[in-house]
Amino acid sequence: GDSHIALAEQILSNQFGFRAFRHEQAAAIQHILKGDNVLVIFPTGAGKSLCYQIPAIAFPELDGPEGARESAEGGVTIVVSPLMALMKDQVDVLKKRGIPAESIDSNKTWEELEMIYRALARSQLRILYCAPERLNNEGFVETVKRIPGGIRLLAVDEAHCVSEWGHSFRPDYLKVARFVNEIKAGRVVCLTATATPKVAEDICKAFSIQPAYVFRTTPYRPNLELLAKTVCKEYNRDISVSLDIMLGFHVKSESDKRFEELFRFLRANPGPTLIYVAMQQQSEIHAKVLAAQGFKAAPFHAGLKIEVKQRTQDDFLSGKVDIVCATIAFGMGIDKPDIRNVVHWDLSNTVEEYSQQIGRAGRDGKPSKCMFYLAPSAFYLREVFARGDLPSRSSLVGLVFDIFKEALGVPVGGVFKTNHYRHPLSIIYATLELHFGFIRATTSEYSTYKFE
Ligand code: ADP
Ligand code: MG
Repeated sequence: GDSHIALAEQILSNQFGFRAFRHEQAAAIQHILKGDNVLVIFPTGAGKSLCYQIPAIAFPELDGPEGARESAEGGVTIVVSPLMALMKDQVDVLKKRGIPAESIDSNKTWEELEMIYRALARSQLRILYCAPERLNNEGFVETVKRIPGGIRLLAVDEAHCVSEWGHSFRPDYLKVARFVNEIKAGRVVCLTATATPKVAEDICKAFSIQPAYVFRTTPYRPNLELLAKTVCKEYNRDISVSLDIMLGFHVKSESDKRFEELFRFLRANPGPTLIYVAMQQQSEIHAKVLAAQGFKAAPFHAGLKIEVKQRTQDDFLSGKVDIVCATIAFGMGIDKPDIRNVVHWDLSNTVEEYSQQIGRAGRDGKPSKCMFYLAPSAFYLREVFARGDLPSRSSLVGLVFDIFKEALGVPVGGVFKTNHYRHPLSIIYATLELHFGFIRATTSEYSTYKFE
């Protein structure tokens, strides 16, 4: 472990002239050197290439898995990339730094290819770039299989192309996954800037990557201002309102303290807004209550007809609707860059879900707000969902106070601000998980409440 890091750092400074690793580069490289299959999710420009270039250079120095040298010659790293122009740039940069690298693409002459194949056969190349189509070429596959020292690493750039959820699905990429076995690659690193969970899941499945070996940069978004406000004062009434909703009784939501806060917030911060609620019924109620106040609002949840959902999406995109009161059903595939506010009326199921939902704000890079209302009823609701029984009210109210006072140092009723996703809102979630384990409530058990 430690010797791997030392070696990687040495290559970083000697060959690339950089002083320190960025983000999760070091962690990803360490696991690749160890022999794990890894997925790297960094935004464009963050430095994905080093994650395979450094191992490629390090391999001749490394012992193999059984303590013996994997190969005296060191083998080669093959990089599959769909972007020819980028391949050429990378090869030029590597060559300038004295690292033997080549690319195989359709522009290469027969003579050039011959030279590359000969260099491969003598284990003279550290890195070889190729397009995914190349794997259909039998001559290429046979040559690659005979490289002395073998394929130490297969790097799959733009790995989201393997996923049908990735907008740029390329059937060739499914072959890349099969190619791994055929050429007996030592390990695989997949690289992408696409961070949606579905895409990551597909990549992990295709290339046998364990969830623990997915490395991401922290999702820091400086244009998002994360706000949270406690709405605690009239907690008894608040709780009974939510209970009424849950049990399908007459709903007196207007009396919910959060609405006063919400109206004030929306008037102070105009612009396209998403309000996330926990239940379908709330989505409808909120849209009505907001419309009555003069806001252009519409509900969105899985219980609505597909035409209705489509119309709401279209109206939101075109600006006919300013506010969508949504359950978790809203968001997948919505590409509206100018969402100015994302409001959480209730707690999301997980921190990841919360980050994904607030991540829909301000995609255009302009300042946007994410408001999170922390009301006892939200905790109450979650706990009821998760446990199927009723917790004591005092313990919940106490929890809210504890979290704000002790964990965050914020007085109840106050507002705290941050623009870092995971801090300090994640503390709230972490605390909740620790105390109750009720955040991961599943949907199916509570379908009678139409909780999604
Ligand atoms: P990506 O593939 O993630 O879009 P690249 O691998 O092309 O990004 O890297 C982008 C730029 O960042 C390159 O110029 C690269 O040399 C530089 N870079 C990467 N890692 C580091 C680092 N640890 N220190 C300094 N510069 C780095
Ligand atoms: Mg790249």
